[in-house]
Amino acid sequence: MLRIENLHAEIDGKEILKGLSLSVKAGEIHAIMGPNGAGKSTLGYVLGGRPGYDVTEGSVTFDGVDLLALEPHERAAAGVFLGFQYPVEIPGVSNVQFLREALNAQRAGRGEAPLSGGEFLKLARAQADALGLDQDMLKRPVNVGFSGGEKKRNEMVQMGIVDPKFAILDETDSGLDIDALRIVGDGINRIMRKPDKAVLLITHYQRLLDYVKPDFVHVLADGRIVRSGGAELALELEREGYAGVAA
Ligand code: ADP
Ligand code: MG
Ligand code: MG
Repeated sequence: MLRIENLHAEIDGKEILKGLSLSVKAGEIHAIMGPNGAGKSTLGYVLGGRPGYDVTEGSVTFDGVDLLALEPHERAAAGVFLGFQYPVEIPGVSNVQFLREALNAQRAGRGEAPLSGGEFLKLARAQADALGLDQDMLKRPVNVGFSGGEKKRNEMVQMGIVDPKFAILDETDSGLDIDALRIVGDGINRIMRKPDKAVLLITHYQRLLDYVKPDFVHVLADGRIVRSGGAELALELEREGYAGVAA
């Protein structure tokens, strides 16, 4: 589904990704772990198409298409979802408005008709319920005044609504208490654990991986994948730290 080859990317002339290669097949969940500043978020942003990140070498194909040639909205319409480490607040735009726009823009990109208000509300309420997010949160401005955990749940509601084919989730577990962690983990499994979907799960800690079992674990250090293994690699990292494993 996703093939990254020798990816080099820079921000403001500073090289952050230094020859990263990774292949993800449909049905797989890959965890990306690694020390602070390794380039994990940069990888997410480059895949999502965030402006300011220049790819200087290498390629990324998604279902055989050159992902890097697509605009961010085209990537979303193609089924790529990027969950942010720090979800943005959008004062003045209600959560339902935002979610409906996001969904219908993606549907339009695929040549599908927009959902009606009624159809959309039904979908949004079902997703909010599944994530244990109060229905009232749907009416409030996007993420404004939401707690850290509510923002992350809201992001999972958005993911459930757009129902992507491929999700890059950047530290979805940061700032979550134990109960919220389980709820968010269950959400990822429910929405994305399917034979025709795949996930890149970026995380610092093993604990999310207790809920969302990765098929592969990779260590990203200094802009490259320096080690790959199965779920047991995350446990080894938890025991020994990155220094020993990435060396
Ligand atoms: P991680 O998510 O693994 O902690 P990041 O991808 O956020 O790492 O950052 C990788 C490196 O890129 C860090 O050294 C960081 O300081 C640097 N970096 C991130 N954004 C910028 C920027 N806008 N300008 C310069 N350097 C940046
Ligand atoms: Mg970081
Ligand atoms: Mg990061």
